[in-house]
Amino acid sequence: MQVYLFQKSNLLPLPYYDEFGGICGKTRIAEVGGVPYLMPLVNKKKVYDLNTIAKEIKLPGAFILGAGAGPFQTLGFNSEFMPVVQAESEHNPPVNGSYFARVNPEDGRCLLEKYSEKHHDFGCALLANLFASEGQPRKVIEVKAKRRTGQLNFVTCMRQTLEEHYGNKPIGMGGTFIVQKGNVKAHIMPAEFSPCPLTSDEQVNKWLNFYEMKAPLVCLPVFVSRDPGFDLRLEHTHFFSRHGEGGHYHYDTTPDTVEYLGYFTPAQFLYRIDQPKETHSFGRD
Ligand SMILES: [Zn+2]
Repeated sequence: MQVYLFQKSNLLPLPYYDEFGGICGKTRIAEVGGVPYLMPLVNKKKVYDLNTIAKEIKLPGAFILGAGAGPFQTLGFNSEFMPVVQAESEHNPPVNGSYFARVNPEDGRCLLEKYSEKHHDFGCALLANLFASEGQPRKVIEVKAKRRTGQLNFVTCMRQTLEEHYGNKPIGMGGTFIVQKGNVKAHIMPAEFSPCPLTSDEQVNKWLNFYEMKAPLVCLPVFVSRDPGFDLRLEHTHFFSRHGEGGHYHYDTTPDTVEYLGYFTPAQFLYRIDQPKETHSFGRD
């Protein structure tokens, strides 16, 4: 794995998003809600708005990337959400470049859609891991990796490296990476919330739909080296593509041929929003 600071004279290339800039300036991680609002049974009161979240993290106009559950309150069904949002500010209207991936009711395959094509709100729901910044183009960390030799996925490798280096001090990072070659194992939650309580990883895995999806994939990771006691999800990565595939990243299935290229930056602050009072440990993979 090769890691070095990366300075681009131009804007950071978040692939396919010419209208957005970088991932720097007043960086924050926000973890909103949590898996306990999705299972054992869904809590449909847990709906959120990304413009409101931007204000709550003291960054109106924030550029927000991440992974969460799609806004069922608008869509009418459950889905995987890939937030890419420029939140509203005093001077600018909000821009929603988010995607969502759902299970196609006709054939059970992935159906990836750009959220703003049919909807105009900035909702999300249940749980979200967000990386927010002013969207400034500045120095970031470039990571290139190819050929996986161990069992861990790309994000876990970086997260554990941070933990080994910084020990008790939690370090959080976000940004974007591209799976340039190879395939990944992914999941998409069913369109219907589970009618019977999910109480173990085994039950959760039976409920989820799993897929193998092909590069190139644009991933939106948020990860924290360790949990300082806020019931954090240590890593969460969703992805979208131009070929109709998107979902929740687990790991690559092609260790010999896989290639990753990523741009990351550390978060200055962590905000924990609407932390569940009752928690558990399943459904976090
Ligand atoms: Zn997910």
